[in-house]
Amino acid sequence: MGGHAPGSTGPERWRNWARTESAVPRRVTRPRDLDELVAEVVAATASGERLRAVGAGHSFSGAAVTDGVHVHLDALARFERVTPRPDGTTHVTVGAGMRLHALNRGLAARGLAMRNLGDIDRQSVAGAISTGTHGTGARLGGLPTQVVGLRVVTAAGDVVEASRTHEPELFELARLGLGTAGVLAAVTLEVVPAYRLLAREEAMPLPAVLEGLDDLVDGHDHFEFFWFPHTATTLTKRNDVTDDVDRPLPTWRHVLDDELLANVAFGAAQEVATRSRRLTPALNRFQTAGLPPRTYTAASHEVLVSPRRVRFREAEYAVPRESVRDVVHELAAWFRATGAHVPFPLEVRFAAADDVWLSTAHGRETAYVAVQQYHRLPHRRYFDAAERIVAAVGGRPHWGKMHGLDHGTLASLYPRLADANRVRARVDPAGTFRNAYVDRVLGPAH
Ligand SMILES: Cc1cc2nc3c(=O)[nH]c(=O)nc-3n(C[C@H](O)[C@H](O)[C@H](O)COP(=O)(O)OP(=O)(O)OC[C@H]3O[C@@H](n4cnc5c(N)ncnc54)[C@H](O)[C@@H]3O)c2cc1C
Repeated sequence: MGGHAPGSTGPERWRNWARTESAVPRRVTRPRDLDELVAEVVAATASGERLRAVGAGHSFSGAAVTDGVHVHLDALARFERVTPRPDGTTHVTVGAGMRLHALNRGLAARGLAMRNLGDIDRQSVAGAISTGTHGTGARLGGLPTQVVGLRVVTAAGDVVEASRTHEPELFELARLGLGTAGVLAAVTLEVVPAYRLLAREEAMPLPAVLEGLDDLVDGHDHFEFFWFPHTATTLTKRNDVTDDVDRPLPTWRHVLDDELLANVAFGAAQEVATRSRRLTPALNRFQTAGLPPRTYTAASHEVLVSPRRVRFREAEYAVPRESVRDVVHELAAWFRATGAHVPFPLEVRFAAADDVWLSTAHGRETAYVAVQQYHRLPHRRYFDAAERIVAAVGGRPHWGKMHGLDHGTLASLYPRLADANRVRARVDPAGTFRNAYVDRVLGPAH
């Protein structure tokens, strides 16, 4: 097969971070620039091969799996353009393979920041937006809502600059579409002046959190809570924009909380629970009792992002915000009824309604309920129960996390899914950008 860019290698085994998915692509390629990327896409389409871009492999689902050509875009990872806008925002164009930690550092160096972020910063920019990665904040949207432009390499090898005003339908599919619009070569983000957050983290009883939920969610820029099953305790996180600069977290406290407690001790607790499952309730009570409250200020990305070194499995569902209390109560009832042991906390976050076609928060104020399980412990029964419970309230699965739904069900949950498939049929008629997961969740393009 001719026309392959340099940097192309034969079969290489690939695994995702969670070790839930693996692949042996026929070919792995690392284009060094846009021309090499275009050559790869053109060659794949001409020979009827499947091609999939891969980011950091942090999706729990099979979103990034392929048996065809795997394209790594780590070389397309530089700041291209920074354009200040009259409204005080800035449009920043970066290579699509840039990792979020490099993006955050580069933005901070320019006095800028993302409006909102998820829990970690290991993902690539393109990978993160392509599955709808989100953080928390009732007035804030997920990462795709912060995208204003995309450079897309379509299946035919055309390079299209898509935005709300130019190729708007391609833009919709490309800003959250599991890579089905084409390979993203660059992403333009709308960012804001750098800001600091006042972080308040403390344990609170679950009943008090659920009772005062609206005040907590609406009264803070970013609110989330973690509930430890088998206990009545949550860890709450309230983060608010502040001008206060003089309450930094001492380094020893950062190391103690974020490394030793949140990772080393937490990981050790998971191992104990794996060896002796009946200790799980006591371990969870012990973990919540040991949570020291803390208040500090730091740059936004330092507050929003934390290291997650303990490997786990996760399913996450977006539910209408008004249903979240019922969902948590149902999950608590399921734990009581089954006696299932889960040493990992359940995470609840919030987002504003948005208009991104395939967004989990499309058209409705949203709460996210994430169920997580240590990677050495069984997760299936727990995750299936969560999926059944959220089905009653129209729960939409995160595209990058584990779930069992297919396009038949998803079409009823995503009102614009048919539009997404119409655009796929136009820009990728031969199905170059399909894979098994896309076939399952989006179905045929037409
Ligand atoms: C520890 C951990 C914490 C997480 N925290 C959060 C969180 O707080 N919030 C949240 O919403 N999610 C979270 N996630 C999920 C994660 O953000 C998403 O699954 C995200 O898509 C992973 O990004 P990635 O760069 O690893 O992409 P990958 O998983 O490698 O790929 C994801 C998708 O993007 C496509 N893609 C990648 N690059 C391109 C490109 N250049 N062009 C076109 N398509 C492309 C792939 O084909 C695939 O379909 C977390 C995951 C882990 C493991």
